[in-house]
Amino acid sequence: MKTAGIIGAGIAGIATAVHLARKGYAVHVFEQSPTHGGKMGVAKLGNYRFDLGPSLFTMPQFVFELLDEELADSFKIKRLDSLCHYFYDHRESPFVAKSDTKDFIKEAALYFNENPKKIDAFMSHAKTVYDITAPVFLENSLHKLSTYTSKAGRKGIANLWRINMFNSMNQALENQFESKDLIQLFNRYATYNGSNPYKAPATLNVIPHLEFFYGAYLPEKGMRDIADIIYQQALKLGVIFHFNTPISGAEIDSNQNIKTLVSQDQTRYPIDLCIANVDVKIWYKNILKSPVPKRIAQAENSSSALIFYWGVKQKFPSLDVHNILFSNDYPEEFDAIFNRRTLQKDPTVYINITSKHISSDAPDYGENWFVMINAAHDNGQYTTEYIEQVKKRVIDKINRVLNVNLESIIEVEDVLTPLSIASRTGSDKGSLYGSSSNNRMSAFFRQANFSSEHKNLYFCGGSVHPGGGIPLCLLGAGILNKIIPDANR
Ligand SMILES: Cc1cc2nc3c(=O)[nH]c(=O)nc-3n(C[C@H](O)[C@H](O)[C@H](O)COP(=O)(O)OP(=O)(O)OC[C@H]3O[C@@H](n4cnc5c(N)ncnc54)[C@H](O)[C@@H]3O)c2cc1C
Repeated sequence: MKTAGIIGAGIAGIATAVHLARKGYAVHVFEQSPTHGGKMGVAKLGNYRFDLGPSLFTMPQFVFELLDEELADSFKIKRLDSLCHYFYDHRESPFVAKSDTKDFIKEAALYFNENPKKIDAFMSHAKTVYDITAPVFLENSLHKLSTYTSKAGRKGIANLWRINMFNSMNQALENQFESKDLIQLFNRYATYNGSNPYKAPATLNVIPHLEFFYGAYLPEKGMRDIADIIYQQALKLGVIFHFNTPISGAEIDSNQNIKTLVSQDQTRYPIDLCIANVDVKIWYKNILKSPVPKRIAQAENSSSALIFYWGVKQKFPSLDVHNILFSNDYPEEFDAIFNRRTLQKDPTVYINITSKHISSDAPDYGENWFVMINAAHDNGQYTTEYIEQVKKRVIDKINRVLNVNLESIIEVEDVLTPLSIASRTGSDKGSLYGSSSNNRMSAFFRQANFSSEHKNLYFCGGSVHPGGGIPLCLLGAGILNKIIPDANR
């Protein structure tokens, strides 16, 4: 039986394990930490449960596609009626973004004093862009000729002129809308893959389509259940997980195939097929020990984040599962994150509260607050004093907008910084999504899903094509399913 070795039990690594087991490989997953899921961690602090990483779940079909009937039946998710509560300092009440597109358009037109037809046209255009780009940029390898010669690929290429690669997201939005607040709302979607809306191509204005068309969901047991259920599927198919097993080297045979993975304790694992789910820069630097290819080394990292996990002893009826307290100066915020790599003056604060739907996530008198700001990737700036300064700014903002004394109601606390994201999940400089999409050529600069140097080496995960976030990581695993031959061939 041919053996596939996967380095990393992140969501893309586990999903790839499922595909390869079904293709007849004996699959071994090597994971440096004691558990699966990578960035999709979970923690219990006192009586509060927290998902440590992702909080927004779209395109659940990519999870269900991996599961057998029994597991699919047991994976329960809830579609959220409202996507997010948006708070603006200068407005009295928040904007509640309904998940139903028609309701959203109607209510956004009233709240932002915009022409509903323009919002409708924007959403329809996002759908068009998705239909054009998905077969070329998301569902197939960008680096295989067959992607461009297939019927869907040819159609995509013929229509590429429609996807507006030359304006930034913000420019396209300013051309479309009058309301600065609505433009800010749509600009925020750049952060879904760690990018800067003032630089990222307007093609990324496709992202709202994914949320509105496919919906936003919350698994009934929390976000961690996404990693858990795919992990269970992998176990059911006989995949073997080696936890606490950091891989620190790879041996190459005379045919340039990766023939052995070497763990930190010098155990050698012979393999026929190698899949790197670790951050691609880490793969080259720490495991293959070869120079990072220039185009990958030079790509700008995506943003990182600072997250405070706060169990709060109060209930907040004005808040929902997803809440945004917008910055008063959005251009300054992105300039601070991507150019100056420092703390923004007035950070946009995101508050995620799963206990709004999962009552066991917090005691009945409180809520589990996951409070996140987007932050520059690690550049040596994250000292204890810096984190304290961030915390103060975040608390001041929440106190001001929600009219509360937050410090007096925090019962339990933990913090995740770019440094801890890097050390716990092996991501380069703590970036959440590998490289950013700030350059219109970013998609082409990402690592392909296969290696042209080592025939049996493949890549999956947030730092390679098609990019980061749960849906794209699962699409990446799906691309490997298409390009890796069955074990018996
Ligand atoms: C705070 C935060 C919020 C986010 N929010 C969202 C969101 O709302 N929605 C969304 O869709 N996405 C979100 N993301 C992004 C999403 O979590 C990631 O894109 C996705 O989980 C990455 O999965 P991956 O398969 O690339 O692997 P990762 O999760 O990066 O895992 C890689 C694994 O490799 C292991 N590893 C590293 N080096 C080695 C080695 N040498 N040997 C063995 N194992 C090794 C690591 O321990 C890790 O388990 C968020 C991420 C974070 C951190």
